[in-house]
Amino acid sequence: MSQENTAPTNGKANALADAAEVAACLRAHRQFVMCAHEKPDGDVLGSGYALGLALKSIGKSVTYFLDDEVPRNLRFMPEWQSTQRSFEGVADDAIFVFFDMSDQARAGKALQWVPRERIVNIDHHLGNKRFGRWNYVNEGEAATGSLVLGLVFSLGVKVTPDIATCLLGTLISDTGCFQYSNASPHTMRLGAALIEAGADKDLITEQLYYTRTFAGQKVLGRALENAQLTDDGICYSIVTQAMLEEYGATHEDLEDVVGALRVVDRCEVAALFKESADGAYRLSLRSRGRFNVMEMARALGGGGHFRAAGATVAGPRESAIERVLAAIRSTMDEKSRTH
Ligand code: AMP
Ligand code: MN
Ligand code: MN
Repeated sequence: MSQENTAPTNGKANALADAAEVAACLRAHRQFVMCAHEKPDGDVLGSGYALGLALKSIGKSVTYFLDDEVPRNLRFMPEWQSTQRSFEGVADDAIFVFFDMSDQARAGKALQWVPRERIVNIDHHLGNKRFGRWNYVNEGEAATGSLVLGLVFSLGVKVTPDIATCLLGTLISDTGCFQYSNASPHTMRLGAALIEAGADKDLITEQLYYTRTFAGQKVLGRALENAQLTDDGICYSIVTQAMLEEYGATHEDLEDVVGALRVVDRCEVAALFKESADGAYRLSLRSRGRFNVMEMARALGGGGHFRAAGATVAGPRESAIERVLAAIRSTMDEKSRTH
């Protein structure tokens, strides 16, 4: 795979300097812990496994830490079986690499103790807090995996078929299989180069888009049946713990639901409330392109991207819905006033 046609800076001037500093850090240290955000997705895990494989190939020691099970649909990723739920074997001088999150809080409880001096932060979210000692952030990239590809090049490591599969998984995951507006010509070129390097595209799409549990499909049906569409274009639905229990489904099975709300022709903003065991709601927001759902999520204590964002909101249900609809409308009104 040639380096010239895939340089992943995507027009951001200072990103190259940041990348060089992160690459120098990776070369200088000997042990790394790959860290994911809560509710891990293909971008965060694929980025960690890809960089982990690259670092191992140059003799570094790598731990993949996850305070959770690896989601079933990501168990095609090379390395997933090496993921561990403890810090066993991690030395005091290990460097922690946080992928795909704008602040450390997104990594969940188990990683809040890690001090800034030991953190590398690699991310593409808007408003990244540069919480690491080393930060490589480029909001112009569709996936964190694009940045990791640049680092693999900087380390002088060959992109093996396994690394390519992890990285193509990040792109496919964060672009909805190259369908979302973040899939630029640059992103498509990276994808093509990864396929040329041996990435198993068909395995990835089969796992991410064409494999669903029966229970999950039933809950999708229920969520659509119960969906509401407001006059101002908010399409929302709620999946309760009781619904999940009725079918034997989990939050992992709900990936398609908010997208199914978003496609409604009169919808501007889709919102899915997913009740957690503790009574709080994990909120997923999607925009059809006019409104910035990241702003809405921010107002609710969350974050994300222009067209896809999320937050966690406290119950009870009625007040959660009220607060979320108010946050959505506040951003919508603001935009209507200023445009
Ligand atoms: P999801 O709806 O869970 O697929 O998330 C959509 C986007 O919003 C992803 O980019 C997430 O990183 C981001 N996101 C989701 N939940 C939160 C949260 N509680 N805080 C910050 N960002 C979030
Ligand atoms: Mn992510
Ligand atoms: Mn991402």
